[in-house]
Amino acid sequence: MPTRPARPRCRDLGIRIGLLEPGALNAITDVPGVRVGHTTLISGAGPLVPGQGPVRTGVTAILPHSGDLFLEKVVAAIDTINGFGEVTNIPQVDELGVLEGPILLTNTLNVALVADAAIEWSLTRHPEMGVTTWGLSPIVAECSDAYLNDIRGRHVRRELAAGMGVANHSYSHPYRPPFDRQPHEKILGDIGRGYDLTKDWFVEERLMIGARTVGAASRALDLSLDFAKRRVQFEEPIIDFQSIEFMLADMAAEIMAAKSLLYRVGWQASQPETDRKQVHAMASAVKLVCSETAGRVTDKAVQIFGGRGYMREQPVERLWREIRVDRIWEGTSEIQRLVIGNELRKRGAGVYSGWPAE
Ligand SMILES: Cc1cc2nc3c(=O)[nH]c(=O)nc-3n(C[C@H](O)[C@H](O)[C@H](O)COP(=O)(O)OP(=O)(O)OC[C@H]3O[C@@H](n4cnc5c(N)ncnc54)[C@H](O)[C@@H]3O)c2cc1C
Repeated sequence: MPTRPARPRCRDLGIRIGLLEPGALNAITDVPGVRVGHTTLISGAGPLVPGQGPVRTGVTAILPHSGDLFLEKVVAAIDTINGFGEVTNIPQVDELGVLEGPILLTNTLNVALVADAAIEWSLTRHPEMGVTTWGLSPIVAECSDAYLNDIRGRHVRRELAAGMGVANHSYSHPYRPPFDRQPHEKILGDIGRGYDLTKDWFVEERLMIGARTVGAASRALDLSLDFAKRRVQFEEPIIDFQSIEFMLADMAAEIMAAKSLLYRVGWQASQPETDRKQVHAMASAVKLVCSETAGRVTDKAVQIFGGRGYMREQPVERLWREIRVDRIWEGTSEIQRLVIGNELRKRGAGVYSGWPAE
């Protein structure tokens, strides 16, 4: 599949911002707790038809921490490096020195629309807002996309903006591979060897799903542990209730087991002498164990958060919902069991239980 050329990052161009070294991914989300949600709208092509398209726009929401920003405000300041773009509610940040909602970015003509959606969003989360507390003054900054987008169409609709940062956008397929006839030199591998390629693809995807799900489960454990220490019921932090502590213990132990399996098979798959059929067999076990483990772990995380865990603005709810698909795609759990059962019949138990000690 053709890939789009990656755009260079500032640092790739020699531009260094700030004094500190970047984190592992050179991303804002390297800062613990910071979350970024976005929706990208792409539709239509060709010349501009004002009010209709093409559409190349979206909304980005940056949340400085994973808790409730309105209740746990963060210290903030505004600094204009250059330019004159619109940012709503600058005086409030200047005067109070705090941020109490997400920082939102969208196209110039949708700033008011996104600000309105942010107010609606916070009103639904805070029944006390406007009754016993003040209301949210949303911070929305413009990014002009007029050079590539039909901005008169104001295609960011309020409902869409209201879903920012909480809706499941990860699995949309914005890029469509071309299915038209391709020249011979673009054929991957040899003619007649497509099934081998498919199997290699499944191996990589299944190992990748192992990594994804173990990562998500670890995050669910971190969030649950933190919450269980802070949440007080019956005058005790809930981590002191053994039923909660045991859930956390099971989560930790299961993650450790799944992660160990993942790393072990990942290492073995990277050894050139390893038989590809064996890697294929083991990758099914990795996907099965890691995705099922993550399902159990994220489910417990939702339970530990109680009613909050079920609400869409909670990271554990999103982890639980998104991890659910990993037991379905790239071969359901039932299909992985079929692969493993078939391997047991053909090669015996050794593939799974007879690893040599290094
Ligand atoms: C969000 C999402 C994105 C996806 N993206 C892609 C994509 O990019 N490309 C792509 O090709 N596919 C994609 N899929 C499809 C995905 O791979 C299939 O949904 C999956 O393989 C299951 O197939 P199915 O939905 O037809 O379920 P079915 O085959 O109808 O299965 C229904 C149930 O029956 C069980 N079952 C079926 N056959 C057997 C059997 N022989 N023995 C025991 N149990 C069985 C299944 O495990 C499942 O529980 C995506 C799916 C989702 C949800």
